Amino acid sequence: MPGAAVVMKGIVRGASDALIAALVAEPQLTVVVRTTLTGELPMEHYLQLCRVFRKGEFLEIYDQTRQYEVGDEVHTPDSAWDGVVYMSFGERIANVIGSTGDPTIGGMWWIRLWAGEVSGFYPSVCTSQNYGVTCDTNLVGGHVIEGTIAMSMPPGSKVYIFPICSTHNNKDYVNMAAVTYLEGCALKNYMGT
Ligand SMILES: [Zn+2]
Repeated sequence: MPGAAVVMKGIVRGASDALIAALVAEPQLTVVVRTTLTGELPMEHYLQLCRVFRKGEFLEIYDQTRQYEVGDEVHTPDSAWDGVVYMSFGERIANVIGSTGDPTIGGMWWIRLWAGEVSGFYPSVCTSQNYGVTCDTNLVGGHVIEGTIAMSMPPGSKVYIFPICSTHNNKDYVNMAAVTYLEGCALKNYMGT
């Protein structure tokens, strides 16, 4: 049947979108939809974004001029990317303590990653806008987890990136909730500091 493949693809895509929409509408569920990074990167640039791990610990951003040791692992930019997380309105989130040193994906600021892969626009306000504290205008891509208690997370954890103001980012004891933006980056293999 001519065109059947296109029609089938459309049906499957439609059903998949409907399922995601239904799951996202469930207030008790946090839904992560797996995606692949959309940013098209030239190979040379891509190599510069790979992260090298030695004995399970982050060593450095891949350096083509360097000799690495047997057993060193090179992780591609995608290895830390899981997809897009959908929060319910008002869902409580908390800081990941000690996340400043988490190596970025592709050397890209976390907030730029959120803008490029999740929202399609640069954020203008804090995700937790004036929740528990008055926000400032300096926005960062903050590592967060679900819940009300800020925690340090072990390597390999799944964490999320949302745009939050530096006040919320720096005060681990202040409560946060997703009220302005409900969609964030879902990361796997969090490396921490
Ligand atoms: Zn804020």
